[in-house]
Amino acid sequence: MIWKRYEALKWASSFLKSYKRDDNIGEILLCDRLGLTRTDLLANIREPLPDADAVWLKERVTEHALKGTPVQYMIGQAPFYGRRFKVTPDVLIPRPETEELVYRVGVWAGRFFGTGSRLSVCDIGTGSGAIAVTLALEHDGWQMTAVDVSAKALSVAEENAAALGAPVTFRLGSLLEPLEGRPFDVLVSNPPYVSRPEMRELSDTVKDYEPHLALFGGEDGLDFYRRILQALPSVFGHKPYFLLAFEIGASQGRAVESLVKQVFPDRIEDLAVEKDLSGRDRNVMAVIRIN
Ligand code: SAM
Ligand code: GLN
Repeated sequence: MIWKRYEALKWASSFLKSYKRDDNIGEILLCDRLGLTRTDLLANIREPLPDADAVWLKERVTEHALKGTPVQYMIGQAPFYGRRFKVTPDVLIPRPETEELVYRVGVWAGRFFGTGSRLSVCDIGTGSGAIAVTLALEHDGWQMTAVDVSAKALSVAEENAAALGAPVTFRLGSLLEPLEGRPFDVLVSNPPYVSRPEMRELSDTVKDYEPHLALFGGEDGLDFYRRILQALPSVFGHKPYFLLAFEIGASQGRAVESLVKQVFPDRIEDLAVEKDLSGRDRNVMAVIRIN
């Protein structure tokens, strides 16, 4: 029996639901397989689905339902800020929440440096390069440098920058070390921030597939904030202000805010814990006076 596309998707959706998985995964897979946008797929939903495609879809839907393999690793890409990023199991799949960090960096940079300023910006723990590449493409004249300790992640990020035509300099190494004291105006980072107890609670789609190097932030999840804040003065630039933009875990707002206050007690021009679209604390933004 030859399925119509909608019949295949109906099967996928109820199969996924019975395993308590996202039921739109069949759609994502089928769009990728057929090389169609979601709109094109839905507009031509009554077309027959060739057997080979139906078998391909069934295998992947079944694997995701049973084992939780992320669909983004299956198709080798993930959307971020309206662009496609290559992803492999060596990089964290970029999250929609992180798009909000990118957006906020633009808003805060406009406020403190003026819109259109030429800024030197570093992205620490760049992974797929989603943040650095997007900022480079959204802000003409920003000089982006992206760091990761994973050589494999860095090569994925480099591929993404090349494919999307983003001018980004990449440096391999730990946190601020590879920046060698060069001056920056902005530091943005979505570091690993999952605490040890939270690591045990992660869903199988995350825990069994995404790199723990990208997730584990030490016992309380705050190690990378402490280490970045301690090293921050080594990269202070020549402008009056330095902008710091972190993604944080939903329970870490107060803690990261107080770390910033501890490290820069008399130099805070502005400091805010900002929420994501689902109303949870997600970013700590700080403007530090440097002269
Ligand atoms: N920026 C990407 C994003 O937002 O989708 C990836 C963020 S992921 C949560 C954290 C990244 O930090 C991973 O790519 C990991 O390899 C990197 N990382 C872990 N330890 C690091 C270190 N000591 N120095 C630099 N990067 C590190
Ligand atoms: N947001 C990730 C999660 O789903 C954690 C990312 C991070 O540690 N920065 O668990």
